[in-house]
Amino acid sequence: MTECNHDCSNCAQNCASRTEQQDFSIKTNENSAVKKVIGVVSGKGGVGKSLVTSLLACAAQRDGHKTAILDADITGPSIAQSFGLKERLYSTDTAIIPAYSETGIKIVSTNLILDNETQPVIWRGAILSGVVKQFFSETDWGEVDLMFVDMPPGTGDVPLTVFQSIPLDGIIIVSTPQQLVKIIVEKAINMARMMNVPVLGLIENMSYVECDSCGSRINLFGESHAEEICREHGIPLLAQLPINTGLNLAVDRGQIEFYPVSYLDGVVEKLAE
Ligand code: ADP
Ligand code: MG
Repeated sequence: MTECNHDCSNCAQNCASRTEQQDFSIKTNENSAVKKVIGVVSGKGGVGKSLVTSLLACAAQRDGHKTAILDADITGPSIAQSFGLKERLYSTDTAIIPAYSETGIKIVSTNLILDNETQPVIWRGAILSGVVKQFFSETDWGEVDLMFVDMPPGTGDVPLTVFQSIPLDGIIIVSTPQQLVKIIVEKAINMARMMNVPVLGLIENMSYVECDSCGSRINLFGESHAEEICREHGIPLLAQLPINTGLNLAVDRGQIEFYPVSYLDGVVEKLAE
């Protein structure tokens, strides 16, 4: 070990006298200029994190922001499916070239590098975070105003490593009324705060179902506590999305971009500020 000169900025040793937090985060390459990186996280899988990521990206692109999605949910990638992307990504000697959705959203996902998209990804945590780092730093993103990162679900090792490796400007938490148990949301908030990443707000998905005939709202997963939880933690409740079978069909058909919904109107402008 070299002798400590008390200048932590030029030293990678994690010695007892360290005064500065080590920065694990990586950067994009010289061909990329990404203005804002927003992580979409959830306490567990199946709550609509990928759907919300896709909808946010569609809304941002529609509003004229140059938009990208990094699918960091390496073992359960579903972004390519919702945009109907099938072509394999190609790369040059030095960079990965992202796929483009029909409206021009740049997308990178493991679905797009595997030979067979039904092939399960059985990689260990260190490899998973290595892949995410490569996606972020080795892709020629070009100019991007808003990049949405579909994070791995939960608050375990893998999401934590991804959190550490990508320089996020903020996170959005996705939850459903059913699992909007305080503890799950609080864990996600605490993880973000530990990493010094601002929590931009909560989006509650599958909040209600609207009756086709009378228009009344049915709280399928019970009463929402979203407002109360947001108030308690001082974070904004950005949106509440209903269960919408048309939306689910659009995802299955790879047509998410062409399914007009106004649930997230105004949210993107808040994020872009
Ligand atoms: P996660 O990424 O959190 O695992 P997904 O976004 O993949 O969850 O959503 C799980 C499934 O539920 C998908 O088939 C998705 O299309 C569907 N889904 C999510 N939210 C809604 C919604 N509000 N209305 C209808 N279907 C939804
Ligand atoms: Mg997902």
